[in-house]
Amino acid sequence: MSLRDILIYPDDRLRETARPVDSFEPALAELVADMFETMYSESGIGLAATQIDEHRRLFVADVSEDRSGAMAFVNPEIVERTGSVESEEGCLSIPGINETVARAERVLVRARDEKGKAFERELDGLLAICFQHELDHLEGRLFIDYLSPLKQQRIRKKMEKARRRERV
Ligand code: ZN
Repeated sequence: MSLRDILIYPDDRLRETARPVDSFEPALAELVADMFETMYSESGIGLAATQIDEHRRLFVADVSEDRSGAMAFVNPEIVERTGSVESEEGCLSIPGINETVARAERVLVRARDEKGKAFERELDGLLAICFQHELDHLEGRLFIDYLSPLKQQRIRKKMEKARRRERV
C-alpha cells in the first residue's frame, strides 16, 4: 500500500470524466487499498479515483466514527433519488472550504465491490450525501459547482493564493 497525492483545486485534472472499470484484476484491489490509506491519512470520509489522478469509475467511503464502515464503489450509479436535504460539505481537493449544498436525501444505488461483485443498496444520511459527492468527482464535477458564480470565484481566488504561497 502507498499514500497517493491528492489533486488540489483548481487543477484541470479534477475536471476529467472517469471511464468505466472493465477488469477486476489484483491491480484494482491495490488501487482501492491505496485510496483507503490516503483517505484515512487525510481524515476524509470519501475519496474518488479522480482525486488521485486515476480516471476510472470508482471511489471509497467510510462515514463511520470508528473507521469500521469501509466501502468501495466501482462503476457506481444512482437508480433512484428521493427527498432533498441541505448539509455542509467539504472536499479533500478543496481544503479549508466548507459550504452548504442540497442533495437528494435518499438514493438507491448500484455498484460493484473491488472484487467485481454487484450490489444494490439504499443509502441515507451522511453516506447518501457522500455517495453523491464522490459520484460527481467521476464526472469532473465539484461541490462548489453548485454555489453562486460569485462564491465560486471567491473560492477560486482563495485557492490560487494558497497555492502561490505554498510555492514560495
Ligand atoms: Zn470531494
